[in-house]
Amino acid sequence: MTTAKPVPSTEPDAGAAARPASQLGALELRGISRAYGAHTALHPLDLTIRGGEFVALLGPSGCGKTTALNSLAGLLPLTAGEIVLDGRRIDTLPPEKRGFGMVFQNYALFPHLTVRANVAFGLKMRGVGKAETTRRVDAVLALVHLGEQAHKHPGQLSGGQQQRVAIARAIVMEPPLVLMDEPLSNLDAALRLEMRSEIRRIHQEFGLTTLYVTHDQEEALSLADRLVVLHEGRVSQIGTPADLYEHPANPHVAAFMGYRNLLPLTVTSADAAGAAATGRGLTVRGTAVGDGQLREGGPVTVAIRPEDLRIAGADEPALGEAVAEIVEYHGRVLHVEAVTREGDRIHLKSSGTVRPGDALSVAVDAERALFFPEPAPSTVAATEPAGEVPS
Ligand code: ATP
Repeated sequence: MTTAKPVPSTEPDAGAAARPASQLGALELRGISRAYGAHTALHPLDLTIRGGEFVALLGPSGCGKTTALNSLAGLLPLTAGEIVLDGRRIDTLPPEKRGFGMVFQNYALFPHLTVRANVAFGLKMRGVGKAETTRRVDAVLALVHLGEQAHKHPGQLSGGQQQRVAIARAIVMEPPLVLMDEPLSNLDAALRLEMRSEIRRIHQEFGLTTLYVTHDQEEALSLADRLVVLHEGRVSQIGTPADLYEHPANPHVAAFMGYRNLLPLTVTSADAAGAAATGRGLTVRGTAVGDGQLREGGPVTVAIRPEDLRIAGADEPALGEAVAEIVEYHGRVLHVEAVTREGDRIHLKSSGTVRPGDALSVAVDAERALFFPEPAPSTVAATEPAGEVPS
C-alpha cells in the first residue's frame, strides 16, 4: 500500500501552478441526435463549447440530458451528427480515445484502493512514470484539498470528499473536457452548496472546460457561463445565466427560471403600447415576448415571478383578488400561496403581514409580466424561484 506523504491542503493555487490552462480550442456538436428505437431522446443538437467554458445542460427528468452527455462521451453511439474537437472528428472514436474526464453522481471509486491510488489509477494504466504520477497526483489532491486524506480509503471519507476524489481522478488525466452528470445529487443540501463553490473553483484554477448536467436551475445558474435548456429532447434556449433569467424565450424556460405563476389567459390587446390579457377573473398588462405572435382574442401564457406579484396599493389597478391559503415564513419575506375566485393558485412574496384567510388584491408591473404565445408546459413543475442572478 502506498504511504502518502501529506501535502499541504490549503494552498489555493497548487493545481493551477502545476498545470497549464485547458488546451481545448473548441468542441463542436453538429446536429448530434440519438434515438432509442422509434423514440428520439435527443433531437439534433448544435452547440460549440469553447476552451475554458463551463456549460450546463439543464432540464427536467427525461429531457435527454444524460443521453446527450453519454453520446458525447462515446458511451452511446450517435444516431446522426458529428462531434468535432479542434477540427478533428471524434464521434467515431471509442470513449477512451476521446479522453474526456467523467464524474458521475455515484462517485464510482475503487473501494479497496486509497485515495491516492484511486487518483493515480488512470495514469498507471496509461503507463505514466512513477515520479510524474506522484507529481501530478500531489498537485491535483492539493487542488481538491485532499492532500491529508490521501492515505485513506473511500469508505473513510464523507460524500463531499469522495466526490472530490472522483473529480481529482478525472482531472489528473488533464482531459480536454470534463463531463459531470448530476455530481452533487447524492449530497445533503449544505454539502451541495459547499461542493458547488468547490467545483467552480476547481474549474477556474485548473483551467478546465466543463459540461455539467443538472435538473437544478439554481445549480446551473450559479455554476455555468452558459446554459443549454432542454425540453423533451430539444433545445429550448441557450444563453448566459442573465440572458435566461431576464429573457426566457418561452414558458418552459420561464418556469425553470422561477416564473412560478403561469396563467392561461386571453389577449385583449397587443400593440406597440403594450399587451393586455384577461380571463379567469384576472386582468393584467404585460410585455409580449417574441415578434407579434400574440393576436387579440387568442391565447397567452402570462408568466410572473412570485417576488414581482405584490399586494396592490390603494389606488393601483389590481390584477385580481385572491385569498391567502398557505403562508410560509422565510425570514424577511413571507411566501404566500393564494387562491383566486376561479380556483387558480398564485404565488407571491410579501414583506408585510399576511395571514391565511386574508383577502388580497394583487398587482404586477407591466414589464414584470411576460406574455408568451405558447401554452404553459404541463410537464415542468415550476420550481421555487432562483432568487437573484448569482454573480
Ligand atoms: P434524468 O434527469 O431522469 O436522468 P435525463 O434528462 O438525463 O433524465 P435521459 O436519461 O437522457 O433523460 O432520457 C431521455 C429519454 O430517453 C427518456 O424518455 C428516457 O425514457 C429515454 N431513454 C433513456 N435511456 C433509454 C434506453 N436505454 N432505452 C430506451 N429509452 C431510453
